[in-house]
Amino acid sequence: MAIIFAGKSTCAICQNILLATDEILMFPAFIHDRADPFWDISDNAVHSTCFKQWPEAPAFRERFNQAWRQQVPHHLRLMQADGTIIDAV
Ligand SMILES: [Zn+2]
Repeated sequence: MAIIFAGKSTCAICQNILLATDEILMFPAFIHDRADPFWDISDNAVHSTCFKQWPEAPAFRERFNQAWRQQVPHHLRLMQADGTIIDAV
């Protein structure tokens, strides 16, 4: 899972500082190809508000849900439309 330092780390979408008071989403590492357009978002953190407005969010979510199923089939997790990740039952 991404490691962030409130007040120092930046949002992977807007590049502004993530404040302790911000609503933040953190994503685990699931993209392992540096050339992948989602490389900077995987294993990183973003403002929840940025994710909700990000045009690529649906595609990113789909990538996560497919990749996680392949990489960690014994612990299925799903990204929801708002970017939160829940354990699949
Ligand atoms: Zn942001």
